[in-house]
Amino acid sequence: KQAGKILIISNRLPIKIERQDEKLVISASEGGLATGLGSIYNKDNNLWIGWPGIVPKDQAEKDFITETLSSLNLIPIFLTEEEIAGYYEGFSNEVLWPISHYSPTYANYNTDNWHCYQTVNQKFADLVQLHCSNEDTVWIHDYQLMLLPHMIRQKKENIAIGYFQHIPFPPDEVFRSIPWRDELLRGILGADLIAFHTFNDTQHFLDACTHILGLSIFNNNLQVSGRTVYVEVYPMGIDFEKFNALSKKKAIKARSREIREHFSNRKIIVSVDRLDYSKGILPRIAAFEDLLLRHPEWKGQVVLYMLVVPSRDTVDQYKRLKDEIDRKVGNINAAYGNNDWTPIVYFYTSYPVEELVALYRAADICLVTSVRDGMNLVSKEYIACKEQTDGVLILSELAGASKELIDAIQINPHSIDQIRDALSQALTMPKEEQHERMAASIALVKKFNIHHWVDLFFTKLKEIKMQQGKDF
Ligand code: UDP
Repeated sequence: KQAGKILIISNRLPIKIERQDEKLVISASEGGLATGLGSIYNKDNNLWIGWPGIVPKDQAEKDFITETLSSLNLIPIFLTEEEIAGYYEGFSNEVLWPISHYSPTYANYNTDNWHCYQTVNQKFADLVQLHCSNEDTVWIHDYQLMLLPHMIRQKKENIAIGYFQHIPFPPDEVFRSIPWRDELLRGILGADLIAFHTFNDTQHFLDACTHILGLSIFNNNLQVSGRTVYVEVYPMGIDFEKFNALSKKKAIKARSREIREHFSNRKIIVSVDRLDYSKGILPRIAAFEDLLLRHPEWKGQVVLYMLVVPSRDTVDQYKRLKDEIDRKVGNINAAYGNNDWTPIVYFYTSYPVEELVALYRAADICLVTSVRDGMNLVSKEYIACKEQTDGVLILSELAGASKELIDAIQINPHSIDQIRDALSQALTMPKEEQHERMAASIALVKKFNIHHWVDLFFTKLKEIKMQQGKDF
C-alpha cells in the first residue's frame, strides 16, 4: 500500500454537468483518460482536482456539485466566466495551442490573459495545497497547467510531481516566440518527471530548457537547482477493450450494416475530428476532390463521411475555418453530386460512442490528415474497432500516432497529391494486404493501451521517488 495518496490534476474533471429543467445532472465522462485513471482516483483517499465544466448560478449549486463529487473522490475548482475567457480560451487556446501546433501566426499575445493564466494556475495550486502533504504524489495533466508544478513545489519541497503534456512541444525557436516562455518552462520544471507522446517532443523540450534557460542535460535528464528532472517519452494509448468489445456487440454490428446499406455499399472514407486548424480538414477535402477529378471511375462509388465535432467556435479563426469547410463541402457536392449520390456526407455535431464505433466499423478507410497532432486517438480507435474485418488507415506523418502506427499508409498532409494517391491506393488495396497491416496495428494498439500508459508513468514516478529516498 502506498504511503501517501495520489492526486490527479487536470483542467477538466472527468464528468459532464448539464442543466435539465433548472436541475443539475451529473454524469461520468467516457473519455480515455478518465478510464485509464479510473483505477487510481477511485481508490483509497486518492483525488482528482479540476474544473467541473460549468459556472454555478449560486452557492446552493456550488454546494450541490461539491457534495455530489466528493463521494466520487473528485474536487471541483470553480472558475468565473472571466477566468475561463482569460486562462482557458485566451491564453491556453490562443497562445499555447497555436504555438504548440507550430502555428505562431495564430497566436494572440494578450498580457491580461497571461495574468489570468497565472492567477488560475495559482488558484489550482492553493486548492492542491489544501488537499496534499509531502508524502503524496501529484500527476498534473496538460498545457493549461504549465505553471502548476513549480507553484506546488514552492510550498511542498519534497512532494513527487509528474507532468504529462498531451499536445506537442514545438521546436525551441517556435516556443521562444512566447514573451513568457521562461516562466512557462520554469513552471513545468517544478515536476520530477515530465513526459510527452513522442521522442521529438522531448527533444524540443530539452532544447528549449538548454537554449532558452541555459540548463544542462545529463543522460536526458535536467539539473534544476540541485534537483534531477526526468524527461521521458510515453505515447498514450486508448481503452482498447472498450472499443473492441463495443464493435462486436450485436446491436452495433447491425447499426454498422445499416450505415453501409444506407450508402448502398459504396466505399466509405471516414474522418472524425474536432473543428481545428491543426486537423488539416481543408487539405483533406481538396484531396478528395482531386481523387474525383483524376480518378473519375470513383465518382458515384465512394463517400467521404466527415464528422466534425464543434469546438472553440467562438474564436475567430475557428469560425472562419468552419465557414470555409461549409463552403468547400457545398461546392463539391453541388459540382459532383446527383440524385443518387452525395460525395461528402458532413455533420457538425458529436456522436455517442456507440454510433462512433458503428461508423468506424462500417468505414473502409479512416483518413487522418492532421498538420500537427500530439497523438491522435481517432486513428487508434478506428483500429480497435477493426478486429476480424477489413480496413485501411491513412495517417498523417505529423500526428504523434504515426511513430507507432507504422503499418498505416503514411502521408504528408500538406501534399494534396500524396493524400489523393493514398486514397487511391487504399481503395484498391488487396484484402490480404489490408489484413496484414491491420493485424499488426491491432496488436500494437491492444498492447500499448491506456492502462499500459498509466502503469509506465506511475512506475517511473515511483522509481524516482524511491531514488530520492521517499516512499511512494
Ligand atoms: N470523439 C467524441 N465525440 C465525437 C467524436 C469523437 O468524443 O462525436 C472523441 C474520439 O472518440 C476521440 C476524441 O474525441 O477519443 C478525439 O481525440 P483525438 O486525440 O483524435 O483529438 P483531440 O480532439 O484530442 O485533438
